Amino acid sequence: MTFSELGLRAELLRAVEAQGYTIPTPIQLQAIPAVLEGGDLLASAQTGTGKTAGFTLPMLQRLADGPRPGRREVRALVLTPTRELAAQVGESVADYGRHLTLKSHVIFGGVGQQPQVDAIRNGLDVLVATPGRLLDLQQQKHVDLTKVEILVLDEADRMLDMGFIHDIKKILKVLPPKRQNLLFSATFSDEIQALANKLLDRPAMIEVARRNTTAELVDQAIYRVDREKKRDLLAHLISQHNWQQVLVFTRTKHGANRLAEQLSKQDIPSMAIHGNKSQSARTKALAAFKGGDLQVLVATDIAARGLDINELPHVVNFELPNVAEDYVHRIGRTGRAGSEGQAVSLVCVDEHGLLKGIERLIKRDLEKRIEPGFEPDPNAKPEPIENGRNRGGGGNGQGRGNGQGRGNSQGQGQRRSDDQSQAPRRRRGGGGGGGRRQA
Ligand code: AMP
Repeated sequence: MTFSELGLRAELLRAVEAQGYTIPTPIQLQAIPAVLEGGDLLASAQTGTGKTAGFTLPMLQRLADGPRPGRREVRALVLTPTRELAAQVGESVADYGRHLTLKSHVIFGGVGQQPQVDAIRNGLDVLVATPGRLLDLQQQKHVDLTKVEILVLDEADRMLDMGFIHDIKKILKVLPPKRQNLLFSATFSDEIQALANKLLDRPAMIEVARRNTTAELVDQAIYRVDREKKRDLLAHLISQHNWQQVLVFTRTKHGANRLAEQLSKQDIPSMAIHGNKSQSARTKALAAFKGGDLQVLVATDIAARGLDINELPHVVNFELPNVAEDYVHRIGRTGRAGSEGQAVSLVCVDEHGLLKGIERLIKRDLEKRIEPGFEPDPNAKPEPIENGRNRGGGGNGQGRGNGQGRGNSQGQGQRRSDDQSQAPRRRRGGGGGGGRRQA
């Protein structure tokens, strides 16, 4: 099946061709015709499946086909959890829509609002936004959402995780009741189900295989190593195998900074990307990494969400995540769109409980390796896992919950630990204010 057989118009096909895509991905095969039909859609798809084109292409086609109002009005609204994802979706809209006469813009918090207000005033057909800033602008009457025909909630589970539900509900209230709703989510918690029930009218349901759990294209391995030797082992693996583009995950922002500094000192160019970095620092680091100028990008889970990095060859878990599902998200960065990837986790004695939880979740035992020269001390005792501001608890991942977590099969009630991660839930609406929640 080709893109043209899906019924897309010539302008879109030319844009798709320019991207170098010839075969639609499974989510695109299902989502494009469903959205073109005009009904609501509930899609289970993770980043890396090609979901962005899956909703952007038919959305643009419907806008181009529909009657054009006298002046430009926001006719399609795409909500995303993070500014990075908003920027990437915005790029896709611009890329795929380049031969159409539609106008789009991206708005998010953490940057000045005036340019955004100006862009909206000049007239837009497609608005891509994070919920907090959008609500701020809507409440200041800078944006009129009463003509929205298509609403897309991208990574809806992340938006709920990040505490955006109240903002989303407020935004829904100002949208016209008759519209097409598309909801994309990687997971289906009760909360997502409740949102879908409220939002969607007899939706088409699409589920693409969670390729990350089967992960046949991702070579996954565990290196057992002592806590203090992780950094040297990482530098050794990178140098020995000549890895050129490595995304490394740490648990905390502080840990990310420290590791990036230390690797750089060992002549491995590295930068950290996390919620305390300015937008321009993050954009710069990401561009350098994507362009091949930066060998290592060290990220926390939240910062890495939504990063669109193509066909990443190497992902390293410098520390295992506290939440087993995050392991799946992390390794989903590799082996995307058909290319092979390698995911390596450095695991010390403190993390055995976390490892068991991950293996239970993905329903397989991961291959364990020991690198000569980095043999772990068999008598090493587990220590509490340093965890951002929360340093409590035992090293086996048990009983450290604070009652807020998503938890997992192992009962690790700990939420993700991007230092600030627990704050957003308690805050009022705006992710826009200073972009604080959009790590
Ligand atoms: P997404 O899941 O939307 O973040 O897309 C994941 C990656 O796959 C993006 O970098 C896209 O550029 C790429 N991609 C999307 N559709 C296709 C396709 N049909 N063929 C090859 N690559 C694609």
